[in-house]
Amino acid sequence: MNILVCGGAGYIGSHVLKHLRAKGHSCHVLDNFSSGHEWALLGASCSKADILDQAALDKIFSARPFDVVMHFCARSLVAESVTDPALYYRNNVSGTLNLLETMQKHGVNKLVFSSTAAIFGEPQEEIISEAHPRQPLNPYGHSKLMVEQMLQDFAEAGGLDSIALRYFNAAGADPEAELGEVHEPETHLIPNILLSLLDGESRREFKIFGKDYPTPDGTCVRDYIHVNDLASAHVLGMEYLFEHPGAHVFNLGSQRGYSVLEVMQACEQISGKKVNYQFAGRRPGDPARLVASSLLAQQELGWQAEYSLEQIIETAWNWHQSLS
Ligand code: UDP
Repeated sequence: MNILVCGGAGYIGSHVLKHLRAKGHSCHVLDNFSSGHEWALLGASCSKADILDQAALDKIFSARPFDVVMHFCARSLVAESVTDPALYYRNNVSGTLNLLETMQKHGVNKLVFSSTAAIFGEPQEEIISEAHPRQPLNPYGHSKLMVEQMLQDFAEAGGLDSIALRYFNAAGADPEAELGEVHEPETHLIPNILLSLLDGESRREFKIFGKDYPTPDGTCVRDYIHVNDLASAHVLGMEYLFEHPGAHVFNLGSQRGYSVLEVMQACEQISGKKVNYQFAGRRPGDPARLVASSLLAQQELGWQAEYSLEQIIETAWNWHQSLS
């Protein structure tokens, strides 16, 4: 397949890119490098461009034939989306609309889209299925839900088939340690714990946000999923689209929740080091528990998470150690 990987220099995009290339697909990347890294391309061809730039999109689609587009370009920090909603609606919604219109203009009609558990808002069920009410709590979640709606509408109008993959907590790193998570600022749990365990300049302080949630140990529970498991879902999703036209949505999680304290203990065990932590207040917008049902992905795509929490942390720890 000829695949355009939009946002292929970012954390999830670069892992999927490596996976696609290993499977023999021909990939070209589009990235504006606002948060992506040149090294994460591992030599893949790339156009430095922004999805907001319609002329640049036109040029990329005119230069090569694409069978499928995978779309990872997005701003994805909840707190930033609250203080700067325009940035989120412009990049995530208008940018995606540009991309969809350019695809249609050039006769490219298959899209795999990165969606998120943030579209659900406050959970009303222990295990979140695709049918769970969608009531985002912040502009980031709203922007992704708006794109899901656009994809439904485009499919109904005919001519654009799509699959939206709603990631729960993406984590872990390439087992060969060529790729991994590098965000600036880093806000995610596992890298923040591991950064607190490093020696030297990369070392950071670690805080647990909230200890009074209605969970067994009072800290938030999340469903952590390895980036390589997300990568395999993208390949299966792409294949599914060729058999099943229309707009589809799938939740991607492991169906297992771990609390912040449980994740921290697993990090201590794997690294052999003690985490020096402090409790801080709750982080605004954090639901107590987010755990996915992956039944539909299992039934329809034949997908399920293969990496355990320990393997997620081991690969991330190897990656972080290689940086210090
Ligand atoms: N968290 C924490 N300390 C940190 C980063 C995250 O206690 O330095 C908590 C956060 O409040 C949430 C969980 O870890 O309950 C997962 O947060 P993350 O930002 O990794 O993902 P999110 O669930 O927000 O997408």
